[in-house]
Amino acid sequence: MKRYGMFVNGEHVKSERNAWLPVIDPSLETVIAEVPDASAADVDRAVSAARAAFDTGGWPQTTAQDRGRLLFKLANKIRDEAGPLAELECRNTGKPIVEAEFDIQDAATCFEYYGGLATKIQGHVNPVPDNALSLTLREPVGVAGQIIPWNYPLVMAAWKLAPALAAGCACVLKPAEQTPLTVLELASWLPEIGFPPGVVNIITGLGEPAGSSLVAHPDVDKIAFTGSAAVGKLILKSAADTIKRVTLELGGKSPNIFFADADFEAAIDGALFGVFINQGEVCSAGSRILVQKSIYAKFVDAFAEKSKKILLGPPMDRATKMGPLVSKEQYDRVRGYQEIGKGEARLVAGGGRPKGFDKGYFVEPTIFADVDNNARIAREEIFGPVAAVIPFENEADAVRIANDSPYGLAAAVWSRDIFRALRVVKAVRAGIVWVNHMQPTYVEAPWGGYKQSGFGRELGPWGMEEYLEAKQVHINLSEQPIGWY
Ligand code: NAP
Ligand code: MG
Repeated sequence: MKRYGMFVNGEHVKSERNAWLPVIDPSLETVIAEVPDASAADVDRAVSAARAAFDTGGWPQTTAQDRGRLLFKLANKIRDEAGPLAELECRNTGKPIVEAEFDIQDAATCFEYYGGLATKIQGHVNPVPDNALSLTLREPVGVAGQIIPWNYPLVMAAWKLAPALAAGCACVLKPAEQTPLTVLELASWLPEIGFPPGVVNIITGLGEPAGSSLVAHPDVDKIAFTGSAAVGKLILKSAADTIKRVTLELGGKSPNIFFADADFEAAIDGALFGVFINQGEVCSAGSRILVQKSIYAKFVDAFAEKSKKILLGPPMDRATKMGPLVSKEQYDRVRGYQEIGKGEARLVAGGGRPKGFDKGYFVEPTIFADVDNNARIAREEIFGPVAAVIPFENEADAVRIANDSPYGLAAAVWSRDIFRALRVVKAVRAGIVWVNHMQPTYVEAPWGGYKQSGFGRELGPWGMEEYLEAKQVHINLSEQPIGWY
């Protein structure tokens, strides 16, 4: 069994208490590695390293071209190591190997995108009404604390590290306790690629104390968080004490809306893909499936039938379409919602643990029909393969139900009527809206939520903006004394 160090100031290190956390393979329920269990003192060490890299180490003064080239080299290295990295991600998360392979390429693409964007950070000349030159300079925010979840470990790390490094920030990143391995692997390449020590630090450990002490640390300038709304609220409160910049990418209960005029076969596939990809452990999962009444019965039948054909199996098997959930905790949570749903709605598929699996955190793809939008399974984020199908009468009804949620991360609408589809796009309060598709995500386009799904945007130029300050510079061009007194 491999022991990984955390990555602080360019070196792999133990925690100061020499405490370790087990890392589990959720399909076999075996310990596959151990990582340091960081304390507040370990976080302090990592923040000091990042502070030194930023304040005196010269990182923000490197040229944008040089920072971009380092990100390109990192992307190339990820592509060179894609096979072993995908296998590691697969074993650690339980996601099917085919999906893990896709994720690794996606992470590399993210570093390439921001490698290119590093040289496109543009200042501005402000048209002030004086004999003066007024400029806006863009400067890195400083030391960024970054906290990520377990569902897309390397992709989430790339979404955080790439724009921050392109902007010239130094980073302290905490992966989720369950899935620290791929980002630690990546960190081990940084010295040979040429990243100076302290520019990237990876702290492994628990939300409390490691995550919370990063958020509270006075020398951290910004916190970028992806995770649950419950933890997002704690972070916002704690960050208030030091007036940190905060961006939050939180959960969702996203509506996937099907009108009677949608392509029926595509709609069924879209509903399945929208909610069951990555075992349903997706922040933008289309977990509320709104279906127009005129096709409702036929839709529910076809959706339930096809869901029963989803092949669950060992994540490393290329035929597997659904692996286990990430942890025992998540398994218990999703099993709990399967039972809650049985008391709230009509079970039409799944509802338990699949037969023939004596180990691993597997659950059946589960579908409830005739769900009331006020039911717990329609309001609370489950973060597993559980779908709530909700009937609606007409367009106004669909929009009302779609927006009746504390969340506003994503939505999708299926219709062959372009006018209707675009009316719904504009009426739905969500940060991402798909038409006749659900889930494709591109590094070029903004990602983030409305309402309690958070604020701030990742990806595209928006993602880098969050790591930049705007400095106003006023240059007086008048040679006259400025006299007032
Ligand atoms: P989580 O429990 O909120 O944890 C997320 C991260 O925060 C983990 O690294 C966690 O550490 C850390 N954390 C926990 N308590 C903390 C505290 N008091 N202070 C600072 N950090 C703390 O979420 P999760 O269960 O890992 O992931 C699922 C959630 O993430 C879902 O709600 C999902 O919707 C959301 N998500 C959102 C997006 C998006 O882009 N909007 C993408 C993916 C996931 P530990 O691992 O040690 O608990
Ligand atoms: Mg957690």
